[in-house]
Amino acid sequence: MANNEDLFKKIIAHAKEYGFIFQSSEIYDGLAAAYDYGQNGVELKNNIRSYWWKAMVQMHENIVGIDAAIFMHPTVWKASGHVDAFNDPLIDNKDSKKRYRADVLVEDHIAKIEAKISKEIIKARKRFGDAFDEKQFVETNPRIVANLEKIEKIKNCLYPAMENDDMTAIKQLIEDLEIACPVSGSRNWTEVRQFNLMFSTNMGSTAEGATEIYLRPETAQGIFVNFLNVQKTGRMKIPFGIAQTGKAFRNEIVARQFIFRMREFEQMEMQFFVRPGEEMKWYEYWKEERMKWHLSMGIPREKFRFHNHDKLAHYANAAADIEFDFPMGFKELEGIHSRTDFDLKAHEEFSGKKLRYHDPELNESYVPYVVETSIGLDRQFLAVLTHAYTEETLKDGSQRMVMKIPPFLAPYKVAVFPLVKKDGLPEKAMEIFDTLKPEFLCFYEEKDSIGKRYRRHDAIGTPYCVTVDHKTLEDNTVTIRERDSMKQDRVPIDEIARIVMERLAVSL
Ligand code: ATP
Repeated sequence: MANNEDLFKKIIAHAKEYGFIFQSSEIYDGLAAAYDYGQNGVELKNNIRSYWWKAMVQMHENIVGIDAAIFMHPTVWKASGHVDAFNDPLIDNKDSKKRYRADVLVEDHIAKIEAKISKEIIKARKRFGDAFDEKQFVETNPRIVANLEKIEKIKNCLYPAMENDDMTAIKQLIEDLEIACPVSGSRNWTEVRQFNLMFSTNMGSTAEGATEIYLRPETAQGIFVNFLNVQKTGRMKIPFGIAQTGKAFRNEIVARQFIFRMREFEQMEMQFFVRPGEEMKWYEYWKEERMKWHLSMGIPREKFRFHNHDKLAHYANAAADIEFDFPMGFKELEGIHSRTDFDLKAHEEFSGKKLRYHDPELNESYVPYVVETSIGLDRQFLAVLTHAYTEETLKDGSQRMVMKIPPFLAPYKVAVFPLVKKDGLPEKAMEIFDTLKPEFLCFYEEKDSIGKRYRRHDAIGTPYCVTVDHKTLEDNTVTIRERDSMKQDRVPIDEIARIVMERLAVSL
């Protein structure tokens, strides 16, 4: 599916047409990199969030949740390093007037070389068949060896330059690699400069009394500053975790690709507090655990891959991304970071308050180490949406579009239709709808032909459609149609709830 631009366009159009996602402020021509969730989108989004919460909080007796304010004391962001270091290097092309992240231009260049290597390997595998030894081939093929060396050299230049905020070195690298603007094709670049991604605003009513505060760029800090509150009031024993979901804001330099990269988005984060020295064990544990969660939604393993970071953030001693095969290729969906004691120590220093844990087993106090799992809810939404989007050719040659969303995540669980709008069928259908609605989110519809109504629900992923006909009035049975198989069964009304419930099961 990699690089499938057409498919991506179709998904975006579908998301709009069927009330999943609208452009923000559309009647004013929209606002860049901001999107609104529509009537079906909000249900899917809520269901994904609840499923994450269930997996993290309900299924782990040592994890609890919080909901911290978006506004925080400005010193929080000094301590966390965001004021000084939450920057991206920015560069403009003077001809196209397009703005880029300078490091991404270089990373894209690396990706192109990597793609060449992959092509060589695929070709060779075809040529040698079963006898193909990939490791040996990669180590000995002169073109691959040369390309790997090239990549190594670029990385050895880029990463230290990023680490040292050396904008001149990054500019030089872009020039040396002869990277051209993808839009204008020219190499007429401005200098590279740092750009802080935090949004700021003023709090307080008078000009003199107002303080500059930031919109949080991550939810994690709300957890760190509440570490002791939760530990003490919840009598939590290490290892334990604190989970939180909520909005985060980043003034991204290049915000494209639909809801993949927005300036306002939602994170689902969990900070797991552990004994110093045990962090690598927990880091591995959470990598596995999070991958299991992704797979539990029925998306195949080959759609995911781990990407271990060579270049670590200032606070981390190990980090990996879970990448998903989006229509634009494999991209980060979730990060798992071993954040050491960086954040708690920094908050101790800046606040002057101790953030220690007394370990009764060791009879010792320490600043815990932290392993974090951090996933973007919107990116997870996009992953579910892209995987669910299915165009099928039916036996009679006709086409149908169906959203194969896992039933427990689907916006509506059951749609109830009277076959015709007369003879008491709507009343009977409404009666059934009323008995089902306390259990499931249901949809009642009587307009258009049954075929059209089925298709509309296929397009939003409703797992079951129930149709009430004249026979229903005689024997209290209905037709129930399953979304994926399109199989229709005649069942007693009393059976509907059980049948639907069975399909909603998911095992964590
Ligand atoms: P990227 O490298 O894509 O900018 P990041 O490494 O800065 O992401 P983190 O700071 O680790 O991201 O944030 C954790 C998660 O939050 C990411 O894995 C992603 O799912 C989500 N996320 C981050 N930035 C955005 C954004 N601008 N829009 C939507 N989701 C985002």
